Amino acid sequence: MADAAEMIDRAMGALIGGALGDALGMPTQLLSPARIAGLYGHVEDFVAPAADHPVSKGLPAGTITDDTEQALLLGRILVEADERFDHARWVNALLDWERDVKARGSYDLLGPSTKRAIDAINDGVPAEEAGRSGDTNGAAMRIGPVGILMPPEPLDALVAKVAETCRATHNTSIAIASAAAVAAAVSLGVSGGDWRAASGQAAAAAGLGATLGYWVTGGDIAARIVWAQELVRGKAEKEAIKLIVDLVGTGVASQESVPAAFAVLEVAQGDPWRAAVISANLGGDTDTIGAVAAGMAGACAGLSKLPQDRISMLKGIDLGEVRALAADLVAARVTRAGSGKEAAA
Ligand SMILES: [Mg+2]
Repeated sequence: MADAAEMIDRAMGALIGGALGDALGMPTQLLSPARIAGLYGHVEDFVAPAADHPVSKGLPAGTITDDTEQALLLGRILVEADERFDHARWVNALLDWERDVKARGSYDLLGPSTKRAIDAINDGVPAEEAGRSGDTNGAAMRIGPVGILMPPEPLDALVAKVAETCRATHNTSIAIASAAAVAAAVSLGVSGGDWRAASGQAAAAAGLGATLGYWVTGGDIAARIVWAQELVRGKAEKEAIKLIVDLVGTGVASQESVPAAFAVLEVAQGDPWRAAVISANLGGDTDTIGAVAAGMAGACAGLSKLPQDRISMLKGIDLGEVRALAADLVAARVTRAGSGKEAAA
């Protein structure tokens, strides 16, 4: 059982754990594992990006990126309009966010699916239809707040809320399955579940999510989550990283990066900081894999299990605002569940 205070601690674990994974992977995103090794050896802490990094150049070590910013943005929209998700409002919030990011001089802008959806909306396609080809990991990377808002059971209600928030940008079977997996893992963690139980819940949610949205081709997310975790189980960290890079894949494709995040969770044995460190060394979409893996781990461990000294080094995040958001999301969840207590699955 988790009471409201413990749920808030775990909700904070999800949001701040995600931020740690995001910031640790910021300088290594888009790089090959060989380039990461050449620049840093093995990344074990926050490092600054190389001067020629395509999107992270100039950012100080420990800076969060779009993964955390968009998750917090989605969280605020969920709190403001809990019952019926406002697609137009969400899309406008993403557009405003990108404008703000550009004004700050950042190069880390909207991802391919979100960009495509917003272009479609600008061309007159209704928000509800714009996400029909969105199949990359952008929905999964920012879905954490839905897992905080929604109790793990009934699972179909959680998955339906995930699908609703995906509609404008990622309305495809593979993106909804991926986001549902991550949200379900976070949700079970907030309820008091451990990372293994969360992984099981994630695979079940992915199975449900795959039946929603426009079907697109790609490996089955539920099957690939189970497979990726089995692949690395009991392996030493270096060997596991090679297996994830070579076989699971670390690209923005949902069927690569999302199962990769679950494999990282397995290698880290649910330790949020370890999950962030492992992710940062993968190459490819390191910051998103780190944000997803450490966010899920953080939900299952709680804020008190995260390294407080590293949290104090994070840049670009207002911890007071995150705490207020976590409390608001948990309050909405408790209202939804109809009582102050909630059974852990
Ligand atoms: Mg990012």
